[in-house]
Amino acid sequence: AVVTRFAPSPTGFLHIGGARTALFNWLFARHHGGKFLLRIEDTDRARSTEPAIEAILDGMRWLELDWDGPEVYQFARMARHAEVAQAMLASGHAYRCWMTQDEIAAQRAAAQAEKRPFKIESPWRDRTDGPLDMPFVVRIKATRGGETVIEDKVQGTVTVANDILDDMILLRSDGTPTYMLAVVVDDHDMGVTHVIRGDDHLNNAFRQLGIIRAMNWAEPVYAHIPLIHGADGAKLSKRHGALGVDAYRDELGLLPEAVNNYLLRLGWGHGDEEIIDRPRAIELFDLGAVGRAPARFDLKKLESVNGQYLREADDDRLTTLVAPRIGLEIGTDGRDLLRRAMASLKPRAKNLNELAESAAFLFRTRPLDVDEAAAKLLDGPAHHLLVRARDALAAVDDWSIEALEAAVRLIAEDEGLGLGKVAQPLRAALTGRTTSPGIFDVLVLIGREESLARLSDQIA
Ligand code: GLU
Repeated sequence: AVVTRFAPSPTGFLHIGGARTALFNWLFARHHGGKFLLRIEDTDRARSTEPAIEAILDGMRWLELDWDGPEVYQFARMARHAEVAQAMLASGHAYRCWMTQDEIAAQRAAAQAEKRPFKIESPWRDRTDGPLDMPFVVRIKATRGGETVIEDKVQGTVTVANDILDDMILLRSDGTPTYMLAVVVDDHDMGVTHVIRGDDHLNNAFRQLGIIRAMNWAEPVYAHIPLIHGADGAKLSKRHGALGVDAYRDELGLLPEAVNNYLLRLGWGHGDEEIIDRPRAIELFDLGAVGRAPARFDLKKLESVNGQYLREADDDRLTTLVAPRIGLEIGTDGRDLLRRAMASLKPRAKNLNELAESAAFLFRTRPLDVDEAAAKLLDGPAHHLLVRARDALAAVDDWSIEALEAAVRLIAEDEGLGLGKVAQPLRAALTGRTTSPGIFDVLVLIGREESLARLSDQIA
């Protein structure tokens, strides 16, 4: 059975690259009916924080990337990691090394002088007579000669000469395990079959395999996915607006299904299909279709995908998401109004902020604040049209879209104007803005009394 994992280091928020790695692991597991595990790699005690852990879990929950079983905390497994180092010592795949910093520096300097890459050559590799009461590190006895080959599901066949792999440290002199050791032990103990992660870890995979082979453990399938770059081709950073997933939710007002859809399409494709919902993604996802070139993050595209999901989203749900963004207490009646307005609001919004902004006219109090562009539409000849419209609308008994439209059309025809020419000042007077849902929707939503009052305000 397939077991994947997401293994974030909680040193910051869940960023968009991490979210995509998590999504790919999640989809691969779900596609194969396997398990998706979460491991918090909190061994860097100085940089790992509780808020970062919370932000990661929160982001995963928001994206509905549910993990199987409780999350595993790497730091808590330190004793187990050390135990594996001891087993490698016992089997001769690791050794205790008493090299001093000075000795290591001297080797580095010599390599530099001879213009060859530095690789540690420990005199302790084949010795077992060191002073156990003096501090030492435990190093892997890396294989010499030959090569290591990885059949990576994304990168293809990647080969490395074993001689470039050094005798890396497994246990530091204070007895704590290194990251390299911890990852391998945890993946093994968690039964991980597929390691899907950023290709910045490809080099690590060769070194990690050294531990796996020394322990005679099953080798996982590797899939190293290209990192996400900004539109300018450089690795995604804050400069590109690389935000935590929470900012995509709170500040940008995006829907999780849209973020998932966008992240899926970022580096993975299925023909020209842009909109791929979750069931379809689970059905289609495979590692073979992950591209090898770095994906380019494009916020405009993400927002356009989001707009498409907004149009499909349930009105009740959108009401709940938009209400807190209106900026005032709207109460139960306001909520109800907002929900009724949703169908006419959502076709033109790309995110929840725009949706809230476009709903604001429903809740403005009289006299309306009219923005500059709208004020222009209320000047001069508009006055006459507004008077006619107010009077005609006041005479409409049945406050329905059809009846209202008939009344306004009559004025337009009588004035020899297109409907839009009458609708423009009406919109400005009713909403204080130049854009809004259809003018008859607006009239019906704000209702007879309020509509007539807003018109009268602009006529007076
Ligand atoms: N903790 C590592 C990171 O956040 C990932 C390790 C792995 O996936 O093997 O980059």
